[in-house]
Amino acid sequence: MKILFTAAEAMPFMKTGGLGDVAGALPQALNILGEDCRVIMPYYGDIADSYKRTMTSIGNVYVPLSWRYQYCGVFSQSINGVKYYFIDNEYYFKRSGCYGFYDDAERFAFFSKAILEVLPLIDFYPDVIHANDWHTALVPVYLDIFHRHRDEYRNIRTVFTIHNIEFQGKYGKELLADVLGIPQDRTSLLDYEKCCNFMKGGIETSSVVTTVSTTYAKEILDPYFSYGLDDILRNRSYKLRGVVNGIDTTVYNPRRDNALFKKYDLATIEDKEENKKGLCDLLNIPYKEGRPIITMISRLTEQKGLDLLAAVLDELLSLDIQLVILGTGDWKYETMLKEYDTRYQGKLKAIINFNADLAKKLYAGADMFLMPSKYEPCGLSQMMAMRYGTVPIVRETGGLKDTVEPFNNTTGNGTGFTFYSYNAFDMLGAIKRAIGAYNIKSDWNKIITNCMNKDFSWTKSAKEYIDIYKEIM
Ligand code: ADP
Repeated sequence: MKILFTAAEAMPFMKTGGLGDVAGALPQALNILGEDCRVIMPYYGDIADSYKRTMTSIGNVYVPLSWRYQYCGVFSQSINGVKYYFIDNEYYFKRSGCYGFYDDAERFAFFSKAILEVLPLIDFYPDVIHANDWHTALVPVYLDIFHRHRDEYRNIRTVFTIHNIEFQGKYGKELLADVLGIPQDRTSLLDYEKCCNFMKGGIETSSVVTTVSTTYAKEILDPYFSYGLDDILRNRSYKLRGVVNGIDTTVYNPRRDNALFKKYDLATIEDKEENKKGLCDLLNIPYKEGRPIITMISRLTEQKGLDLLAAVLDELLSLDIQLVILGTGDWKYETMLKEYDTRYQGKLKAIINFNADLAKKLYAGADMFLMPSKYEPCGLSQMMAMRYGTVPIVRETGGLKDTVEPFNNTTGNGTGFTFYSYNAFDMLGAIKRAIGAYNIKSDWNKIITNCMNKDFSWTKSAKEYIDIYKEIM
């Protein structure tokens, strides 16, 4: 089967969050299972020169976008058995960063249109186009409006995956004609609550809509989680599925990870402690045997439960623990954490930065991983933590509920500690239960073993996607 995976970011070229991880790993898994899955993404100015130098230029076309006619170069590169295509237009993509510009709507409308226009140039007519999040939600829309009359495009099926429903690509309706070039008789595809909504267009026009966990697929039918789209999704629930994400188990592998102070696996789990010592040295915080380090590696936003942390931070820090937080995000959380870092020297370390190498050192060196999200479509960090034998403490929502099983000390089953209500004291209760288990060596070893024995690879989920592709074809 020929699949074209479209995404605004993909590892190893560009990543700002979970989408980059998924677009890096899922296509690889699909290819290993015998499919021909290729990835197409923008040629960002920020892609490392080492990658740019080894790309080949395939040619260029001009892309019509409303009254515009824009240059579009195409580069390609193969890595880990996956062919990647890059859409080049310096005006749109030669900037620092991927998102957050005043003209994001135009940039990603161009990208989505370009994907369809370059198929003859790259000579790849897929059976399925898999679009992801609002950035490429217009691909199935443009396909239906502009391309279905051509033989090569007539039977292309489309999957649209929602990685986070909060970000929908919502803009003023004046963009519909002038920027997106949507003909007047088709504007209802995108028109929603007096806005132009990219994600709504993707939901309406794709053959199947998926999201990244089964629990989140149910949650987004509820107004509490849907950011206004529950109505549309309930109408389209016949084509809504949940497929839980995996992680790249070669990149995240404590046995082979060069970022670690000392590599380890279950058989040499005592070496995890060396990573804890190394981490304390690196961060210049005191190391004490038997005192747990709790870590968070996260965007610092409301979604990630930072308000719960803020509500009980003093009480949490009065316990015999250390807290290390790595993240960037909203100014109010960054300043709060910096202030606490100064006040609680050696107890709380806040590193306001995006640092993939340090993230891995933290996954390995910490004992517990805190993720009290208000909502969480899937969440990858909790799986990465478990892979490194770091025990997750999570709120029971979305993918966190689907991937972390609460520990039961009678049966010895379970991989972490969970709480249900979005309530700071319930979170604190879960942390205290985790500390209780940490102090009983046999229980803790059992939980670590359960975590590290879990299979988080993409194989199972990739097979579920293949079933979906086959079904729509
Ligand atoms: P989301 O996509 O909502 O941000 P996920 O848990 O799905 O959350 O994925 C987050 C990914 O980004 C993980 O790979 C995590 O390790 C990484 N990450 C988040 N913040 C940082 C940071 N400050 N430095 C390095 N990696 C980070």
